[in-house]
Amino acid sequence: MSAHTVFAGMPVTVFETMSGLARQHGAINQGQGFPDAPGPEALRRLAAEAVLNGSNQYPPSRGDPILREAVIEHYRRLQGVDLALDGVVITSGATEALAATLLAHVRPGDEVIILEPAYDAYRPLIVRAGGVVRAVTLQPPAWRLTEAALEAAVGPRTRMVLVNNPLNPAARVFDAEEIAALARVCVRRDLVVVSDEVWEHVVFDGRLHRPLLAAPGMADRVVKIGSAGKMFGLTGWKVGFACGSPDLIAPLAKAHQFLTFSTPPNLQTAVAAGLAWPRSWFEDMRAGLGRSRDRLSAVLTAEGYVVTPSEGAYFLCLDLAAPGLALDDTVFCRRIVEEFGVAAIPLSAFENEPVTRTVTRLCFAKGDAVLDEAAERLGRARRALL
Ligand code: PMP
Ligand code: GLN
Repeated sequence: MSAHTVFAGMPVTVFETMSGLARQHGAINQGQGFPDAPGPEALRRLAAEAVLNGSNQYPPSRGDPILREAVIEHYRRLQGVDLALDGVVITSGATEALAATLLAHVRPGDEVIILEPAYDAYRPLIVRAGGVVRAVTLQPPAWRLTEAALEAAVGPRTRMVLVNNPLNPAARVFDAEEIAALARVCVRRDLVVVSDEVWEHVVFDGRLHRPLLAAPGMADRVVKIGSAGKMFGLTGWKVGFACGSPDLIAPLAKAHQFLTFSTPPNLQTAVAAGLAWPRSWFEDMRAGLGRSRDRLSAVLTAEGYVVTPSEGAYFLCLDLAAPGLALDDTVFCRRIVEEFGVAAIPLSAFENEPVTRTVTRLCFAKGDAVLDEAAERLGRARRALL
C-alpha cells in the first residue's frame, strides 16, 4: 500500500531535527524555543496538587469553566479585550487551536494568506485542511508588513489571513500602523483572521502588544490564539486558548471535540491561577527575558556577529552575511551543532521557497552562564568558518 498522504511528503519539523542533533552532540540547545528554567514553582505545585487531589477525568470539552473565565478576565484586565464564555475554548496547546480553527474555517480551495518567514506548522495544517497557501514575504532586517503587500496577495478565493504577532521567528512586534493596515485589508476584503498571539506577553523595551481583536472592525472576524506554555515558560504543558466571537468559536469547538476532546484538567487548574497573577508578574517575566536578550546580543556582537533587532519572543537572529560568513543558514546550523556544540534554527526552514538564506535564529531564554558559553562557542565558530 502506498503511503500517499499530504504529510508523507513533508519534512520532519526543524524543531525535532535540531533538538535531536543537540542531544546527539551534547550541544547547548538554542534552537527549539524553550527556557532552561523549570517554570514558576507555584504553578507546578498547583498542578501537582491537582493531580493528587483534583479530578483526573475528562473535563468539559470546551475547557474547565474556571479556566475559561480566567482567560476572559485576563484578557479584559491586561488587553482590554471583551470575550463571552462561549467565545473561549481551551485546547491542547496553541498548535491544536490552530489545527481546529483551520479545520473548522477553511473550505477546500480557500486561499489562506500567511506571512513568511512563518511558524512551521501553518503551511502543512492549511494544506491538510484543504486550503491553498499564499505567502507574503517579509524582508530582513525590518520585517515590515505593508498594506500594499497584503492587499496584493488577496484574490477572489482568499478566505483567511493567518498572522503571528509577535512574529516568530523574526522577533518582530507589529506596530500600530501595521496592525491598522492589517485590519483595514481584512475588513475591506471581508476576511477571517487567525491571530496567533502566543508571544503576547514576551514583548520588549516598553512595546505594547496590540491584540488584533481590538482593532476597528475586527471583533467578529478574529480568532485569537494564546498559549499558557509561552506565558509561564512551561512549554511542555500545551494548554492553549482559542478566543473570539461565539459564532467563529462554535465551529472550531466542534473540531476540537474530535481532535483531542479536552486538555489535562490539572494543568487547566494551575493555568487558571497563573492568569490571575498581577500585571507586575508578566512585566518582571519579560524584563528578565529582556536582560537575557541584551546579554546574548552584547556577547555575540563582541564576538563579531551582527544581530538583528529582537522586539519580542524568545529569539534573536544572526545575520550571517553581514560579518562575511558566506554560508547557507542550514549549513551554518549543521556545522555549529556538530563542530561547536550549539544548536540554532535556520530561518529558511520557515519559508517554502527560501529567500532568506543567511539568517539564523537563537533562543536566549537561558541562564547567563549558558548564554555566555554559547556565545563563546559561536565566536570560535565564526573565526573558524570565515
Ligand atoms: N505558534 C507560534 C508562533 C509558536 O511559536 C508556537 C510555539 N512556540 C506555537 C504556535 C505552538 O504553541 P503550543 O506549544 O502552545 O502548541
Ligand atoms: N514554538 C517553538 C519554537 O519556535 C517550538 C515548538 C515546537 O517544537 N513545535 O521554537
